[in-house]
Amino acid sequence: MQTRSGFCYPRPESDNQDPFRGKRKLGLGFGEPYRKRHRLSSSSEAAAAAGEYGCGSGHDLFDGIPDDLVLLILSKLSASATSPSDLFAVLITCKRLKKLGVNPMVLAKVSAKSMAIRASKWCESAHRFLKLCADSGNLEACYTLGMIRFYCLGSRGNGAAMMARAAMGSHAAALYALAVIQFNGSGGAKTDKDLRAGVALCARAAFLGHIDALRELGHCLQDGYGVRRNVTEGRRFLIQANLQELATVPDAAAAAMAIGGGGGVCPLLSDFGWALEEREEHAANRFMVEWFTAKGLEEGMRMCSHGGCGRPETRRHEFRRCSVCGAVNYCSRACQALHWKLAHKAECTPMDRWNLAVAGAGAAPPAAMG
Ligand SMILES: [Zn+2]
Ligand SMILES: [Zn+2]
Repeated sequence: MQTRSGFCYPRPESDNQDPFRGKRKLGLGFGEPYRKRHRLSSSSEAAAAAGEYGCGSGHDLFDGIPDDLVLLILSKLSASATSPSDLFAVLITCKRLKKLGVNPMVLAKVSAKSMAIRASKWCESAHRFLKLCADSGNLEACYTLGMIRFYCLGSRGNGAAMMARAAMGSHAAALYALAVIQFNGSGGAKTDKDLRAGVALCARAAFLGHIDALRELGHCLQDGYGVRRNVTEGRRFLIQANLQELATVPDAAAAAMAIGGGGGVCPLLSDFGWALEEREEHAANRFMVEWFTAKGLEEGMRMCSHGGCGRPETRRHEFRRCSVCGAVNYCSRACQALHWKLAHKAECTPMDRWNLAVAGAGAAPPAAMG
């Protein structure tokens, strides 16, 4: 890697005149809001402002730090940033940080929270930023952009290819997303469903500990859907899914004590009747929910009824309906099971709910039908 120090390599005169020039050339569009916020009307004022941060024409300690060290610091920052603004606030500081901030070494480490772009803020710059991260080998960016392109932008082939790139790098959510696409034949005809491929992708995601994949695989095994029926093995995967859920609880020890005492709200064994706290959905799912809430769906298409999923149908009657009430529909068994526990158990038709309670099967979601 090339190491450069401002003391050893004087900069060309023109580089010091306008710290926003690099940003405009890269087209990331961070310059204008910064100018407005700081009322910078001319390039000389902008250069003076940059000087306050130690990046102006005068040499200072920052100039003496070699590039590879700055890259290392930026990589750590991008990996630990908790919001997109954390990273962008640094990138707009000066030309040098802007240039080093888009180095592939930094972009490959950008955290999931830094890429959690809201649908209302979606623009060409955000798209380009995610693309740069994906091209740098950032698997989270490949998955997020793949989901957005596949479902929101209608670019099915390209979106699926990006998700496949993430899946090849063992990105569990991407493996599961591709499994859902295979189960539903999303983006194609009903005959494009490939249940065996769906189960195989699901198994790989489940092996990596993905909770939805574990639950999906458990239901597939219990129902003999795309795989030979094995109720015992299916139940084992469902228990594993619930144990994984317990591991995500911040205070797992207190939750376990609550179970021991027979009370409290704990997600452990939620498939078998325990109360379940709503978990935080992935940024890609939140993006899709916001996107389709704002823009609406194509005529005749439906959203997955699990509110945190955000997947829309890609053709009519793609999703399976609840076999009891027929009023809700789901992209997957995992979404159905989760929504059943969170809401639908109380909403499904009263008579069926009463029957299920009498039969002692109130915690199990009814079978879905195509
Ligand atoms: Zn129902
Ligand atoms: Zn869903």
